[in-house]
Amino acid sequence: MVLVYSDEKKLTLELLNIARELALELHKKVIAVAIGHDEHATEYLEHGADLVIVAETPQHQFKAEEYTSILQSIMKEHRNEIVLIGSNKNGKELAGRLASKLDAGCVMDCTKVYIHDKKLTTERIVYSGNAIAVEQFTSPPQIVTIPSKVFDPLPKNPNHKGEIIKKKFDSEHSPSKILKVQEMKSEGVNVEDAQIIVSCGRGFKKKEDIKLVSELADVLKGRTVGCSRPIAADLKWLSEDHWIGLSGHKVKPKLYVACGISGQIQHIAGMRDSGVIVAINKDPEALIFKSADYGIVGDLYEVLPKLTSAIKEKMG
Ligand SMILES: Cc1cc2nc3c(=O)[nH]c(=O)nc-3n(C[C@H](O)[C@H](O)[C@H](O)COP(=O)(O)OP(=O)(O)OC[C@H]3O[C@@H](n4cnc5c(N)ncnc54)[C@H](O)[C@@H]3O)c2cc1C
Repeated sequence: MVLVYSDEKKLTLELLNIARELALELHKKVIAVAIGHDEHATEYLEHGADLVIVAETPQHQFKAEEYTSILQSIMKEHRNEIVLIGSNKNGKELAGRLASKLDAGCVMDCTKVYIHDKKLTTERIVYSGNAIAVEQFTSPPQIVTIPSKVFDPLPKNPNHKGEIIKKKFDSEHSPSKILKVQEMKSEGVNVEDAQIIVSCGRGFKKKEDIKLVSELADVLKGRTVGCSRPIAADLKWLSEDHWIGLSGHKVKPKLYVACGISGQIQHIAGMRDSGVIVAINKDPEALIFKSADYGIVGDLYEVLPKLTSAIKEKMG
């Protein structure tokens, strides 16, 4: 069996795609696990699961100990050989704990998962994006975490039939309990789902100048502003919600406009899957041009206002 779990519905749908591919090759079934709620169970079936196990637990909020023990007992019952877990903060904690309980191999943040020489093989970016580690499991169970946006969900297929079963799990014996959940402060920006992103980097001289980027984002009807790490982490001109890259958000918009961004590998790692990449940089040798579909060599203080007004005119 290939088991799929994430506490994010979207990520679960993405994982079901690769789970289906592996299951087909290995002649196995795909199990999706939904913990605490069942409202997405049918959708999981329609996107590739053969069986959805809804784990009914009083613990509706993610809690590593309980969720690990739920997955562990499902694994025991269904003899899953491959476990794919969504690589967000909770998923990584869960995967590590589960691997330790099961004495299993675990590879985090994989960008490719396939069968080679009859063995489960993974690829992940290492050394800040300068190398790719190719790793192979030698025995089951095999636990792999996959970040969002690596795979697209399969198209919905209402004819793909499967079973939904509900199972009760107790959380009485947990050694800890959640007293309070504090939401992280956010500006409500969601770069990960944005279709058009205009991003700024150290090419901007002061915080106020970022309005040049917002103005372009507005006329493009994208309204989503992204940034490189120094803008969010060092200068703090924008919140971390905007930060794109290896240690920031991974994005996959249809259009990504990089303004005054040099194109270091750690930034590229977060936006390389964008549909069309446009770069504006005054340095013709800037690395960003190697990743761009269109490049404008020029001073962003001259280029951006002209570009914004030209697009405004074009779009009426
Ligand atoms: C472990 C690790 C993780 C990292 N994670 C990330 C990450 O997630 N995201 C990220 O972005 N970075 C990350 N970094 C940092 C990364 O290596 C770079 O330092 C960073 O991306 C550089 O940001 P920048 O391109 O905005 O600035 P710079 O590298 O300083 O580039 C500024 C660019 O602006 C251009 N410019 C200057 N003035 C103008 C002008 N007037 N008009 C047009 N162009 C102009 C310059 O030619 C230059 O190319 C990470 C680094 C490490 C070591």
